Amino acid sequence: MTTTPANPFIPFALPDIGDDEIAEVVDTLKSGWITTGPKTRRFEEDFSAFLGDAGLHAMAVNSATAGLHLALEALGIGPGDEVITTTHTFTATAEVVRYLGADVVLVDIDPATLCIDVAAVEAAITPRTKAVMPVHYAGLAADMTALLALARRHGLKVVEDAAHALPTTCGGQLVGTLASDASVFSFYANKTMTTGEGGMVVTRDAEIAKRIQVMRLHGINRDAFDRFTAKVPSWYYEVTAPGFKYNLTDIASAMGIHQLKRARAFQQARADMAARYDAAFANLPVITPPQPLPGDTHAWHLYVLRLADDAKLTRDELIEGLYAAGIGCSVHYIPLHLQPYWRDRYQLQPQQFPHSQRAYEQMLSLPLYTRMGPAEVQRVIDAVRSLLD
Ligand SMILES: *Cc1c(COP(=O)(O)O)cnc(C)c1O
Repeated sequence: MTTTPANPFIPFALPDIGDDEIAEVVDTLKSGWITTGPKTRRFEEDFSAFLGDAGLHAMAVNSATAGLHLALEALGIGPGDEVITTTHTFTATAEVVRYLGADVVLVDIDPATLCIDVAAVEAAITPRTKAVMPVHYAGLAADMTALLALARRHGLKVVEDAAHALPTTCGGQLVGTLASDASVFSFYANKTMTTGEGGMVVTRDAEIAKRIQVMRLHGINRDAFDRFTAKVPSWYYEVTAPGFKYNLTDIASAMGIHQLKRARAFQQARADMAARYDAAFANLPVITPPQPLPGDTHAWHLYVLRLADDAKLTRDELIEGLYAAGIGCSVHYIPLHLQPYWRDRYQLQPQQFPHSQRAYEQMLSLPLYTRMGPAEVQRVIDAVRSLLD
């Protein structure tokens, strides 16, 4: 690798943790309350306020995977049911369906947006279909207008995998406030904001919210914080279901409170970097990422470049060349239809998913994060240009 002290390795992703996050974590550690408590409650309230919709319930959990599991569980998904999602996602989106004993039906993407193809969803509906899970891939909203209309016509539940989508808008409305049954955000280390590990489930439905609140902590009807801070201290609680251990700690929420305050600035910085990449790559044999509709916000979790047919390198060669130039890249995603578990369980063939398969073979994700300075963005640009021009 041609990295030097003046040109250190540019990793694919880095979290952007500020002094406020650190001070709040230290405050939490000193406070005597480190698991789910006042900071988590504040983080949830701040999250609802960020989405700007008083009718929403925001529930912090220890990962988006946990949140997706809880949302489907609360919707009553179980054995015999089918849930439709995109093959072009991380395995977490689909695995939660299997946790509940239901079946996953994978469908192809729209090659223009790389998000779930709504026509393919419609074609996959059977009498067993109970829900559909769109993914706002890379931070660009899926076609929720068409998808929600389809779901309404067929009586399907909709759970949005919004792991990439903070903040993303669709028709001017923030993801999290749309007319789906639940949306789930991720605060994993490389996401647009982070709590190390963490997630947030958002729903408008009070019954779903109640179920999630109970199931995220052992099926207990009140959490520990409520029990120990109620006016009359109470040791009494009731276990109403075999719940899970999915609560978020106050240590994590302390980070989340301050990351959330910076979410809009993070998005602007990511959008500015993406625009620099777009301009710099305009004349190369590449397909630059799809843009949001006019007036809409793309969260720019990922900057996904696809090689055109006339590119002189393969995707793998380009990744190797960038690595040799001291730049880390990734691929989002190896589609689920190629992963042994999903491939073998549902006997999937690449020909069933031509758009995802083709996009996968052409794509790589470039570094895009707020700790990158202009000089680092330029180094990525120069390296891509020198390899492809
Ligand atoms: C990161 C991610 C998840 C899982 O998020 P965790 O918080 O790590 O559980 C789910 N779906 C997609 C599309 C993701 O990128």
